[in-house]
Amino acid sequence: MEPEALNDLRFVGYRRRLIEEIRSHGIEDLEILQLFDRVPRHLFVPEGVRVRAYEDAPLPIGYGQTVSKPSLQALLLQILRPGSRDRVLEIGTGSGFLTALLALTSERVFSVERVRELSTRARSALDSLAISNVALMVGDGSIGWRKFAPYQVITVSAASPSIPQALLDQLADGGRLLIPVGTRKAQELILVRREGKELVRETLRDRCTFVPLLGQYGWSDEAGPGSDRPS
Ligand code: SAM
Repeated sequence: MEPEALNDLRFVGYRRRLIEEIRSHGIEDLEILQLFDRVPRHLFVPEGVRVRAYEDAPLPIGYGQTVSKPSLQALLLQILRPGSRDRVLEIGTGSGFLTALLALTSERVFSVERVRELSTRARSALDSLAISNVALMVGDGSIGWRKFAPYQVITVSAASPSIPQALLDQLADGGRLLIPVGTRKAQELILVRREGKELVRETLRDRCTFVPLLGQYGWSDEAGPGSDRPS
């Protein structure tokens, strides 16, 4: 990882404060907290919001999309606990910030984003930190990425009307899938664990709000904001 980016003194203090904030949300795992020190969030957000990069808040990244709140991303990592031999499928690369956090804890991350410009930007942020165990694809992540399946961890950063069967099919035995499911306005955060042929489903949060998953097993691209019409 490029030391210059990490030690940008303008941001070191802010980063430490963010870690304290994440800890106040009940994330005590040191390995997870340290990830937020190792991955400088300001490199993943557009210039215009860079001064806010270390707020525990979602931030706009362009194209109507957002990078999620760091404490929520820390919670996702705590739930999914990717291991150093795990293959991770991420749907919704967005800024690439969560991709970077996942890459530092797993063997390899396969991340799909439908907006080409976001994927390109994410790639250069990842390159600037010399994170090389990430494969990015531009396309519809609601159908997963069959070529490299099965995955021990699948995380979906966009809200779906239901759990796409294609993603369940690509989940390894013992694997964990995390996905917000509901309407376009409000969702439940669902964890699915595969135990052989069995799928064990658990609701972790009854109310959260993610941007919509657009695509074959998501929402229709044409549906206006607030519409509940699945594709
Ligand atoms: N975790 C990301 C980060 O750290 O920046 C935030 C992702 S943002 C909340 C959700 C992303 O999902 C958006 O960039 C959006 O373009 C993408 N998305 C929506 N539908 C998609 C689909 N069918 N396939 C791939 N990406 C999709």
